[in-house]
Amino acid sequence: MSKVIVTGGGIIGLCSAYYLNKAGHDVTVIDKGKIAEGTSFGNAGYICPSHFIPLASPGIIAMGLKWMLSSSSPFYIKPRLDWDLIKWGLQFWKSSGRSTMEKNIRPLHEILQLSRALTIQMRNDLGNHFQMEEKGCLMLYKSAHTEKHEIEMAHDAKALNIPTQVLNAKEVQALEPAVEVDVRGGVLYPFDAHLNPSDLMHVLHEHLKANGVEFMLETTINGFERAANKVTGVKTDKGLVSADAYVLATGSWLPFTGRDLGIDMLLQAGKGYSMTFGDMQQNLKHPAILVDDRVAMTPLGNELRMGGTMEISGIGSPMLIKRAKAIFHSAQQYYPSLDLEFPSPSTIWHGWRPLSPDGLPYIGKHHQFDNLTFAGGHGMLGISLAAATGQLVQQTVEGVSTSIDTKAFSVERFN
Ligand SMILES: Cc1cc2nc3c(=O)[nH]c(=O)nc-3n(C[C@H](O)[C@H](O)[C@H](O)COP(=O)(O)OP(=O)(O)OC[C@H]3O[C@@H](n4cnc5c(N)ncnc54)[C@H](O)[C@@H]3O)c2cc1C
Repeated sequence: MSKVIVTGGGIIGLCSAYYLNKAGHDVTVIDKGKIAEGTSFGNAGYICPSHFIPLASPGIIAMGLKWMLSSSSPFYIKPRLDWDLIKWGLQFWKSSGRSTMEKNIRPLHEILQLSRALTIQMRNDLGNHFQMEEKGCLMLYKSAHTEKHEIEMAHDAKALNIPTQVLNAKEVQALEPAVEVDVRGGVLYPFDAHLNPSDLMHVLHEHLKANGVEFMLETTINGFERAANKVTGVKTDKGLVSADAYVLATGSWLPFTGRDLGIDMLLQAGKGYSMTFGDMQQNLKHPAILVDDRVAMTPLGNELRMGGTMEISGIGSPMLIKRAKAIFHSAQQYYPSLDLEFPSPSTIWHGWRPLSPDGLPYIGKHHQFDNLTFAGGHGMLGISLAAATGQLVQQTVEGVSTSIDTKAFSVERFN
């Protein structure tokens, strides 16, 4: 048993703590917040093995450039002279080539599958207090162009043994008896699942506290102490804390924490929004992605969450109401009978997806440090990949063989 400090108490930090604690380690989690809000809370809650194509893929640059011309589009990069953004953008462009994307599909598919299985195991261990449902996810479309693309994706999915069902408009409507759906058709990925991410975070936090994990909350990490090839302490605004091993899981802040250790991490924060409507009399039965507009719809009991947009405009940039309005407008176009009012801006949530340039996470050690494990860069898939990441972190800290090959997730793959 060793003492391990996990820096960052988002879903990746908590799942790392979960597996480390289960394996008998003495774990402390440090977070500048209270583990009560943040990126791991208001997201769409999908566990989606269907997302086996990395974000960096052919056509994404052309589509992104087209979207950038519209202020209400689902994707936006704020042009700015920022060397980190330029380096990230160049690597994103390189990674979106067909051969790199194809190379990245296999490891992404493997970690998605592992994580789905481990999330189910976690639900069985902790009890389903986070509304996890295995109903699948619908990819809905209105245009012939998107239909063609989604059907091609469904073929690719079949090649990986991911089950799919291509549905026409009538078949989609039959899955949603309570709400009118105005689409050309859709693809159902029955193997996908969804859950309430905020409830999952609370359940994990309570479970970890009850099992002896120490939490240092409202504690900001300012730097690290090191000696030779080891981290020897974390400097916080409440003093220095030390352990045998350290896990870096600071989400979109990973480049700042990495820099304190002299390690350059390529990562940008991708801002997204969500709105949650309570007391739904007529709710959706299935989560759905409105593919033409990149909007995610998640029924959570009698609540309905809609979310989307990807704004790369620097961490801390202000919320843009017109983008939240575009999400709301899209939901109304796809589900015309939903009788909802645009919410007050103060209730609109936003979070920061930690985006690596190739759409794969960073999981593993850096050659400079024996006792430091990175766990970050999960982008749009932090909930989907958290359980597997937690297990891989525990195995990496212990130096034992990992459940799947982690070479593709190397922290140093862009060096
Ligand atoms: C609109 C939207 C919808 C999404 N939908 C889905 C989905 O359906 N499925 C899915 O799989 N993923 C989804 N995601 C992505 C998912 O939310 C993220 O990938 C995930 O939450 C990232 O988790 P994390 O633990 O890496 O980072 P975070 O949750 O950001 O946690 C990092 C933690 O580190 C702490 N920290 C940072 N710096 C310091 C410091 N210096 N000192 C102390 N603490 C520090 C922060 O306070 C924070 O709590 C969505 C994201 C958005 C924005």
